[in-house]
Amino acid sequence: MRKNIVAGNWKMNNDLEETKLLLNELKKQQKKSEAEIMVAPTYISLDSSVKILENSDIEVIAQNMHFANSGAYTGEVSASMLKAIAVNTVILGHSERRSYFNETSELLAKKVDAALANNMRIIFCFGEELNDRKNNNEEEVVASQIERALFHLEASVWDNIVLAYEPVWAIGTGETATPEQAQDMHQFIRKTISNKYSDTVANSISILYGGSVKATNAKEIFSKPDVDGGLIGGASLKAKDFFAIVNAF
Ligand code: PEP
Repeated sequence: MRKNIVAGNWKMNNDLEETKLLLNELKKQQKKSEAEIMVAPTYISLDSSVKILENSDIEVIAQNMHFANSGAYTGEVSASMLKAIAVNTVILGHSERRSYFNETSELLAKKVDAALANNMRIIFCFGEELNDRKNNNEEEVVASQIERALFHLEASVWDNIVLAYEPVWAIGTGETATPEQAQDMHQFIRKTISNKYSDTVANSISILYGGSVKATNAKEIFSKPDVDGGLIGGASLKAKDFFAIVNAF
């Protein structure tokens, strides 16, 4: 079901003690919100984070997972392991995973299948690079990233998928897509889903924007009709900044 969502991707920041401090700060500062709120600490803090946020409205989610359920994959973590500690949502396809860890659409399709087989919700990230936009190829790139990793799925499972459009040139750079650029792309994404599935599917998915969202630009971006929230990197590492974004709704 389509909802407003604000998710904080902490990346490789905060050790266990720092994580506990930030989570307790989030708990203290949280007010009733229209948006679903999520945070993604590192793997080693997930179990403690779930316990700390047990009676709050903030969901703990994972930044990544492997496609296999278990086996000889040194350094990896599976969907069933995440589920076993009550982590029910996973971010897949983040541009840092694609570029630093060579995650391809084909690999991501397998991760998507594994997450869904384990009844997990997915925040699926994609977005064009600066050169794609300079060459007016951004729609083609985005459509291809969605098609190759997600279009083998039945319409019925799209309830468990949240899309996150994250132009690579805006991630961690301080540069943000204008609210109009975000709206245009989100509208295109919804149309792409509608063409493949139906208006019903397209209108019931949440599409988040990610790329240097801050308290100062969140309200304008979130006010666009096809933007259902944000995936937040840097600004999710301070409770006050994160809630200023959540409260933009
Ligand atoms: C991200 O990594 O998903 C992200 C959007 O980062 P930032 O907000 O720091 O640009």
